[in-house]
Amino acid sequence: MEKLTSPKTIEAILNRYGLHFNKRFGQNFLIDDNIVNKIVEAGQVTKDDVVLEIGPGIGTMTRVLSEHAGKVYTVEIDKKLIPVLRETLADCDNVTVVEGDILKTDVAALLAKDLETASLKIVANLPYYVTTPIIMGFLESALPVERMTFLIQKEVGERLCAEPGTKAYGSLTIAAAFYAEMEISFYVPATVFMPRPRVDSIVVTLTKRDEPPAALVDKALFFKVVRAAFQSRRKTLINSMSSAMDCPKEVLLSAMAQADIDPAIRGEKLTGEDFARLANALAEGLGR
Ligand code: SAM
Repeated sequence: MEKLTSPKTIEAILNRYGLHFNKRFGQNFLIDDNIVNKIVEAGQVTKDDVVLEIGPGIGTMTRVLSEHAGKVYTVEIDKKLIPVLRETLADCDNVTVVEGDILKTDVAALLAKDLETASLKIVANLPYYVTTPIIMGFLESALPVERMTFLIQKEVGERLCAEPGTKAYGSLTIAAAFYAEMEISFYVPATVFMPRPRVDSIVVTLTKRDEPPAALVDKALFFKVVRAAFQSRRKTLINSMSSAMDCPKEVLLSAMAQADIDPAIRGEKLTGEDFARLANALAEGLGR
């Protein structure tokens, strides 16, 4: 088998199939064996696992996943890459290639049989244009995912793992932290991709929580409060929330008092637990 991380091989394969990198699908293929191995290592993939990969490209990481996992399902949106994958993964008996958009794929149905006996891990070099909906989709779903390891744009990774009070901290941080514990595994330079993206990347690992970090009276209201608090980052909490929420100012002020939160603070200073207290006080104030 040709070395799939070699730029010459990638070019030769694309030429042979009359293909070009498709920007629309965020195609930046890995050309560094060491990084591919490190991502799979961070995913802690074992033979007891069924692994879901999103966007195999020409199958570079899929082959390494296939060596370590019990089974691999890999979902690729670009139908022109399917014949390529049939060739590059021909000797990988434990790999199933699925043509489709991951955002429209019924993963629970696809894996139902395997999940009776194996645990699920997700490992992917994600297309950057849909990183957030893919990650939030898996966090919000009831799929029993044990571990998710994603290579993503550095800025998004830093937002996921940010600390309160930092520039990167925001509604994505709090939403993700509600469902999972996050860890930065390692940074990845743009030079390990072909074509080279304009941004640097990062590998993050997410482990879903068994229990949410705070008890919520109304989960939808919690997320509404978080979004409203970050709507205008320069405004105080009370001003940002009262312009973003359809709720009288005095009800908001009274909830803040009850939750012991200063209305003049900026949303970025609040922790997830502060938001939970505030949302619960507001739920009470609204009679929910
Ligand atoms: N895994 C390969 C690698 O590391 O070299 C390719 C990674 S490339 C960043 C992203 C891949 O995801 C591309 O193959 C692209 O066609 C595919 N893709 C883009 N959007 C997708 C979607 N919504 N569902 C499934 N695959 C998608």
